[in-house]
Amino acid sequence: MTGRTAALPRFTFSAAACAETALSWFENWDEKKIDDGLFFDRMGDVAYIDKVYMYGPPPAKVKNPTAMGAKNPVKFWSYVFIPKHIDLNKKYPLLVLPHGGVQADFTTDVKQIAKWLPGLNTSHIMGAVFFPESGGANPFTSAYNIAEDAKKMGVEFIIGDEVADIIIENNKVKGCLTASGLKINCEHIVNAAGSYAVRVSKMAGIDLAGDVYIDRHESLITEKMPMWLDALVVNYHPELSGYWQQKRMEGPDALEGEIVACFTPTKPLYGFNTHSDIYCLSRMAQSILLCQPNLENVGIVRSAANHYVGRKSGIAIIGPTSVHGFWMNIAHQGHGFMCAPGDAYALANSMVTGKVHPWIQNCTVEEPKNISETMV
Ligand SMILES: Cc1cc2nc3c(=O)[nH]c(=O)nc-3n(C[C@H](O)[C@H](O)[C@H](O)COP(=O)(O)OP(=O)(O)OC[C@H]3O[C@@H](n4cnc5c(N)ncnc54)[C@H](O)[C@@H]3O)c2cc1C
Repeated sequence: MTGRTAALPRFTFSAAACAETALSWFENWDEKKIDDGLFFDRMGDVAYIDKVYMYGPPPAKVKNPTAMGAKNPVKFWSYVFIPKHIDLNKKYPLLVLPHGGVQADFTTDVKQIAKWLPGLNTSHIMGAVFFPESGGANPFTSAYNIAEDAKKMGVEFIIGDEVADIIIENNKVKGCLTASGLKINCEHIVNAAGSYAVRVSKMAGIDLAGDVYIDRHESLITEKMPMWLDALVVNYHPELSGYWQQKRMEGPDALEGEIVACFTPTKPLYGFNTHSDIYCLSRMAQSILLCQPNLENVGIVRSAANHYVGRKSGIAIIGPTSVHGFWMNIAHQGHGFMCAPGDAYALANSMVTGKVHPWIQNCTVEEPKNISETMV
């Protein structure tokens, strides 16, 4: 799980819900300890920088409206960066990076940054943000434990078989057929087929080809070494960005762990492709070595490639379709795991109540216009 995405609100959810979340965070955001002078000095040649104190209306919902100060305006500090090379007569996207409420330290003090990240080559560093409370979860153990809990609640899993067709009568789901010839009668089917989402949609007569794409992402895995790297590192270098973390594959008490690293290619590699690729491995290694040259002699033992599934807008498809009883939970790009609890809750709630949950109101099959989400 990437620290930076975990720290930001997800903007595919309704605008109102996002605004409320962001405001609730800003309310608690005290002026951050930041060495502004140094910041302005280092970034001044590439960006116009400003620091502004903003006032907004009082929060829409307050726990105790009669408490002293409950109706006071929301006040918060913001840093504004405008790149110097842009054409000021043109319009550009506005990127808002809220992180109030999430404990964070923002600094340009390289000595401090080197304490967070042992072995860091500080000569390239302009600044860093440290989220001491960020966490991660292992998707394999999570999926296993969720499945075990589901079994206890009576869920039956059929493994080693695949849905080959979906039975629809009068525009209503009636069941499905599996490759082994099994027929399952049911009123609801959720398409959560990841890279195969377009194929499964087509079984229900919904053609997403051309709207949903898959593109290849790869991770490298190093040999094991004693645990020493605590943080998940995200490198924002303009050409050599990437992220990596030392993982304990054998559980929380393991004394050793391998480093797992990924990056997002600037030019997406579209299409089904899970082969290893020397370009990806060397590109990821360059990103790591730029920051942590002390990893130079660590061996890469394997790599794993899979796909991001997404749409141009970056907005996932979660919710009902034109076929009654056929639901989608697809196109999550690079944050399907971290958003899974919220997405699944909102989808299940929509299925039970028959009303699309506000969190997923933008995640419609028809791609929303004028809104987008960027996953880096
Ligand atoms: C390199 C890499 C790094 C990533 N890093 C992160 C990260 O840090 N954080 C994060 O949140 N996300 C990350 N992601 C994205 C995340 O892995 C995906 O968003 C997530 O796995 C999507 O989950 P899913 O259940 O929709 O699809 P999948 O995990 O692809 O599952 C789909 C399942 O459907 C099954 N299936 C397909 N067709 C059929 C059929 N006809 N019948 C029955 N079953 C079928 C497949 O076998 C598969 O098991 C990363 C992805 C990659 C490739």
